[in-house]
Amino acid sequence: MKLYNSLSRKVEDFVPLHPKAVGMYTCGPTVYSFVTIGNMRTYATSDLLVRTLQFNGYTVDYVINLTDVGHLTGDNEGDADRGEDRLEKSAKKEGKTAWEVAGFYTDAFLKDFNALNYIKPKIFAKATDNIPEQIELITRLEKNGLTYATSDGIYFDTEKYETNTHRKYGELSSLDSIMEGARVEPNPEKRNARDFALWKFSYAGGRAFDPARDDESLKRQMEWESPWGVGFPGWHIECSAMSMKYLGETFDIHAGGEDLRATHHPNEIAQSEGATNKLFVKYWVHSAFLKVDGKRMGKSLGNAYTVSDVVAKGFDPLALRYFYLTAHYKSPLNFTWNGLEAAATALTKLRNAFASCNEEEAEDRTILSAEKLQKITEYRDRFKNAISDDLNFPQALAIVWEALKSNIPRADKRDLLQLFDEVLGLQLDKGEQKAKEIPAEIKELLKKREELRAQKNFEEADKMRDQIEEKGYTVSDESFKG
Ligand code: AMP
Ligand code: ZN
Repeated sequence: MKLYNSLSRKVEDFVPLHPKAVGMYTCGPTVYSFVTIGNMRTYATSDLLVRTLQFNGYTVDYVINLTDVGHLTGDNEGDADRGEDRLEKSAKKEGKTAWEVAGFYTDAFLKDFNALNYIKPKIFAKATDNIPEQIELITRLEKNGLTYATSDGIYFDTEKYETNTHRKYGELSSLDSIMEGARVEPNPEKRNARDFALWKFSYAGGRAFDPARDDESLKRQMEWESPWGVGFPGWHIECSAMSMKYLGETFDIHAGGEDLRATHHPNEIAQSEGATNKLFVKYWVHSAFLKVDGKRMGKSLGNAYTVSDVVAKGFDPLALRYFYLTAHYKSPLNFTWNGLEAAATALTKLRNAFASCNEEEAEDRTILSAEKLQKITEYRDRFKNAISDDLNFPQALAIVWEALKSNIPRADKRDLLQLFDEVLGLQLDKGEQKAKEIPAEIKELLKKREELRAQKNFEEADKMRDQIEEKGYTVSDESFKG
């Protein structure tokens, strides 16, 4: 199997540390709002990688984290150590506790995760469940002389890291790209602009909340005692601590979105290797971003669609999964509703083809011609080669369609599809089912329009039609279609 490794910037032969068991960690979502179909593309890449590994006979120890504390808003301006904690900010906005916010969006994420038929990891590790492990890791770094205190927290010293460990900081990204991110004045207390927080204080110097001095309404909800004072972990430390806890100090694969390649992942490497003086991860896999209508996806742009938005428009969530399969994970993928529509149509066709392969046919499989037998083996091998070639799923899909159109017996087509679906995860055996249904909301509007027309209230009926059309459906007087 071949895999592109962001660390070497090359496609490499995949050689795991242990012959048949692979350890893999994916950076999961920050659970302060709904996860978008952009985030879900990154988890699709991880899912396809896990399934491809399994297809190749490996067992995979798979871990995904849930960031429920410490991810500050400052990373939008290029300094992840400043700004408000996203969880605490959402809590204020929604009038809930930070714990309630985390619980609510974690549940919503897990629902979407299941809807897209992603393989469950052995654990969804929460940052707040692993505070002692993070404190312990910072203590190790402190013992190795790689930390220093400022008024607002404990920082990682990237220069000491280089001199003490003889390792280079930031090999995963180029240093330039790390520096480029900074659009704000550097924190004058940092020894080096690329240093980053390991532990942040709730109050300067790490003191506890003082009712005589501090405003109760501004008090942090998530904070813990530590050897350095009351506070909370920096964003990067959770991933080092939890991945090593569950997968060992050195493991095979670490995955995430391409944005994490610039700072989050280099910082994870520095923390882990600074503590253990061992290689942290062998293969780094980064998934390209999903765009929407050719633009960056963003909450402020109103295009940060979620799986629920997709379902509300009548799509089977697995149509979105099919859509993800149409591009290589290292290429940007542009989401449009028309593109999703095309994916839904293809998925419906595939499911119908699978269902029709169940029908009896005269030809007996036992008297297959040598030529047909060879074809079946070839399709199987070509599919496996495509997915094992750095997850070339667009090519794998082309092979699926080619096999379907071929003259091999239907029963063998069905067997092939069933085998391919172990990796595609499209639930092809769902039967003759459309991957796009007319949503209940549209059906309701249509019913109202019919009633109005029956009452000869054409003016209101036309308004109804406009409403339906605004939602992307066309009404004709006999029928309507999406
Ligand atoms: P966050 O919730 O911001 O911590 O992001 C969770 C994961 O989703 C990270 O691995 C990000 O790199 C990834 N991600 C964020 N936005 C996108 C996007 N538009 N397309 C693909 N992946 C994304
Ligand atoms: Zn991470």
